[in-house]
Amino acid sequence: MRTDMKAAFGSQDTGVRRAAVIGAGSMGGGIAAQFANAGIPVDLLDIPGSDSRNGPAEAGIARQLKSGGFMAPEAAALVRPGNVEDDLPRLAEADWIVEAIIEDFDLKRDLYRQIEAHRKPGSTVSSNTSTLLRRDLVAGLPESFARDYVISHFFNPPRQMQLLEVVAGADTAKESATRAWRAGRGLLGKTVVECRDTPGFIANRIGCYWIAMAVLEAAEQGLSVEEADAVIAAFGVPRTGVFGLLDLIGIDLIPLVWGSLIRSLPAGDGAHAYDLAGSELSAKMQAAGRFGRKSGAGFYRKAEDGSREALDLASFEYRPRREVADLPGGGRDLAALIAAGGPLGDYAWSVLRNLALYTALVAGEIAHDLPAVDTAVALGYGWREGPFRQIDRVGAGEVVARLRSEGREVPKLLEGAAQAGGFYDGTAPRIDLSGAPLAADDAPGAAAEAAPRILAETPGGRLEDGGEGLGILRITTKMGTFAPEVFDLFEAVLARGDLKALVIAPGSPRALSAGADLSRFLELAETPERLEAFLARGQSVFSALRRAPFPVVAAVRGLALGGGCEVTLHADRVVAHAEARIGLPETQLGILPGWGGCTRLLARLATPGSGPQGPGALAARLVETLLPGPVARSAVEARGLGLLREADEIVMHADDVEPAACAIARALARDYSAPEEELFTLAGPSGLAGALAGARAARQAGRIEPAALRVAEDLAEVVTGGPEGDPSRPLSEAEMHALERAAVLRMAARPETRAAMQATLKR
Ligand code: NAD
Repeated sequence: MRTDMKAAFGSQDTGVRRAAVIGAGSMGGGIAAQFANAGIPVDLLDIPGSDSRNGPAEAGIARQLKSGGFMAPEAAALVRPGNVEDDLPRLAEADWIVEAIIEDFDLKRDLYRQIEAHRKPGSTVSSNTSTLLRRDLVAGLPESFARDYVISHFFNPPRQMQLLEVVAGADTAKESATRAWRAGRGLLGKTVVECRDTPGFIANRIGCYWIAMAVLEAAEQGLSVEEADAVIAAFGVPRTGVFGLLDLIGIDLIPLVWGSLIRSLPAGDGAHAYDLAGSELSAKMQAAGRFGRKSGAGFYRKAEDGSREALDLASFEYRPRREVADLPGGGRDLAALIAAGGPLGDYAWSVLRNLALYTALVAGEIAHDLPAVDTAVALGYGWREGPFRQIDRVGAGEVVARLRSEGREVPKLLEGAAQAGGFYDGTAPRIDLSGAPLAADDAPGAAAEAAPRILAETPGGRLEDGGEGLGILRITTKMGTFAPEVFDLFEAVLARGDLKALVIAPGSPRALSAGADLSRFLELAETPERLEAFLARGQSVFSALRRAPFPVVAAVRGLALGGGCEVTLHADRVVAHAEARIGLPETQLGILPGWGGCTRLLARLATPGSGPQGPGALAARLVETLLPGPVARSAVEARGLGLLREADEIVMHADDVEPAACAIARALARDYSAPEEELFTLAGPSGLAGALAGARAARQAGRIEPAALRVAEDLAEVVTGGPEGDPSRPLSEAEMHALERAAVLRMAARPETRAAMQATLKR
């Protein structure tokens, strides 16, 4: 199989070079796509089709292409469709076989017997089951199978949802479980949480209880659906609340999901107090066909005139949706909301209380440690923080005191938290799941806490000591925007003589840098001399970074846009999260990359093998690349656009980006010499027409606006050298930078550019 995809950084350490997924439905198709996104070839098998043997698997791939499961279309070439009658021998090539067929106990076990006959010894086999137990699924199967068999429970959609719950048994071989762990993180980009073998594992056990309890308590206490959802949003959960969430999940799934979970729980489990599937509310919704968004009406609906309506739980009629304003604490502060009391505060307390009691009682049964519970629930359900952290926010002592004053029995775990002064001290738990205090060194995550030594600092960021001469320059402005104080830091760092390597790192998960601050840019544009100085400063800092005597590695997670992308174009290496958004959108605002971006991209296009060469062809390719204002929706796409190079690395888990960047920077430092000064041979005036041919044709066909053609003309002028350009005299980088600056100054003076920037700022 031929493809241009490069395997994700670190993939060789996971023990998985080839994978297989059986079941090409929404989960299996998505998991296969995610293997492919990491550059790992994968077989995707389903039942044989009646028209075409591989039809169902091919349809699964097509669905992923349509729904965005692939990070770039070329990844789909890594998925080889097949069927379980003809192609089981292919399983012998796979290091990890994921079963994701329908939730049918007997079908799954039949399939396992067939898998066992074909797989290579020692390969990992896992099931994506959401409701069945590992020990039941494996009972009576050969010991050799059980040794390599784990549950790998992904969430839907597999590309986007970050949680992977893994269940191993006492009979599982360490290597097999470790492979699922490592590949789950390194190839599939998931945060892996180890769970005990219990119904619903961790996230759904707590999450389903929470939805059922919050919905039925709201109905019982006579709250409207809007009031309940506004209160629930104060828990730091998605704005849909719980009723809105059920509309999204599909109310028709209540009997299946909640029904089967509750049936599998012992009679004494607290979940039986809130039997959503057996409730009158659910029965009425099912009978009325009110299934939520999929049927056009659930707890909310859109009226014919387009207005939003909500279901009145008492009359079961729809009425106009009512805004819930003035929640105590602004709807974000749970403690304030509870302290305020009243119907909404009391409801908030009842939800926190029940969640705290249930989670504290079952935690030891479902998880191995405290962070597993918080991580699984937070990632599985999109909460800002898991249940124990929520309790800490209100105060474990306060929660326990109130439980006592209500005459309730306090579980040992809650008691222990109250005595220890909370569940957590920073990232480290203070207690274990029995409620006993943990010594600081024993706490999971304790090692991660040490604060880095700061070597330099400005209001725009800081230089952290990464050890052995490695500096980590962290941009800390909002969204990493390039303000003068960020350049102050870069200049201070470049002036030091003690660095052996440098990593440019994000200050927040959201962005390495969203580029220049637009409002500042507009202000500077009032005075051309000041704008020119701002451009020249960025150019000189980025150029000095490229020519520094030590290697520079850019670690990208979140956004790297505009100037944020230009800084990466000057780095020796980029290490990007697979889901990073890298791009140069400035042409959409009427300007061009003016911190050396055009120059660097031109140099990249001139790399042999990257496309047609020669000054005229390069100029045309650059205009074609930059004119649409390209912003890649994934790192793989950025590579396709030429914004990442073959040597740059893609990392699947966002938290692994920076460690990988540091490791690469250290490795490069062992034998580093700065790049030589480059010269640029431009096409000159005779190349202008060729560079603009594409844009002119697009304008004539009405595909672009006159303003975009003007942008193309400015781009073309930079990369051909304009009317004064002389193909016989190559230009230095400094001369290229002067062309960039002149173009940006011209473009910034246009009313349409100002209008586009102002409109963006208003958005
Ligand atoms: P789905 O119905 O979308 O897809 C199941 C696929 O399995 C179908 O394409 C079907 O043709 C195929 N299939 C059935 N029997 C087969 C067999 N014997 N051999 C090969 N293929 C077979 O189901 P899904 O939603 O993708 O769920 C798959 C598994 O993942 C289930 O165990 C489910 O419980 C679990 N799960 C689902 C979700 C979710 O939100 N959908 C979340 C987590 C886990």
